[in-house]
Amino acid sequence: MVAKHFIFLGAPGVGKGTQAQRLAQLIRLPHVSTGDMLRASVQSGSAIGVRAAAVMESGALVSDEIIIGIVAERLLLADAATGVVFDGFPRTIHQANALDDLLAGRGDQIAAVLHIELADEEIVERLSGRRVCATCGAIYHVRYHPPAVEGICDVCGGVLLQREDDQPAVIRKRLAVYQAETAPLIAYYHDRSAYHLVSGEGEADEVFSRIVKAVGVAR
Ligand code: AMP
Repeated sequence: MVAKHFIFLGAPGVGKGTQAQRLAQLIRLPHVSTGDMLRASVQSGSAIGVRAAAVMESGALVSDEIIIGIVAERLLLADAATGVVFDGFPRTIHQANALDDLLAGRGDQIAAVLHIELADEEIVERLSGRRVCATCGAIYHVRYHPPAVEGICDVCGGVLLQREDDQPAVIRKRLAVYQAETAPLIAYYHDRSAYHLVSGEGEADEVFSRIVKAVGVAR
């Protein structure tokens, strides 16, 4: 069976994480977030975590070499055999080239590239109100998607935290980095049949319906 992978494109804050988690759950593929993997490395104090911590806090990108290495290793795990849902990868043309090579070597395909688009003002609003469960990674928003009990995760009871890089100054830097380094990926994938442009406007449920329709899976 040919493995088929999903890619989410879009600026930080458009809802990639939320939507990638939901899609992964629906189609029963692992959710592979390079940001989550890096944060876990920082927590554990591994060599990669030590190298990545300051870069992440500043809003810049971790080196392609580190990212391509962790993705290549992740794809070797048994649960990736039928495909994964990438979240936050690829983020540079170099990473996209490396992914194409990696997939060609395995005989895998890209099932869909989901490009989520949202206005800049909306992005800043979403990122500054975002809260993330320190235990299970579930994503909330203080206004649009609050937990039942303030500061506590509905799913696992973990503590909700604001990410260091969701502070206003770092948000601005991350958006600039997105424009410079990641936005060129839109042209890279645009002409492929797997490419889908999806509006990120509205509730998470509405956005998810658009994604499910674009991808053509039954709910
Ligand atoms: P995210 O959770 O996807 O917003 O990622 C948080 C931070 O981790 C980013 O601002 C980068 O510093 C780093 N990061 C995550 N994924 C990548 C990637 N594919 N390439 C480079 N840096 C990354």
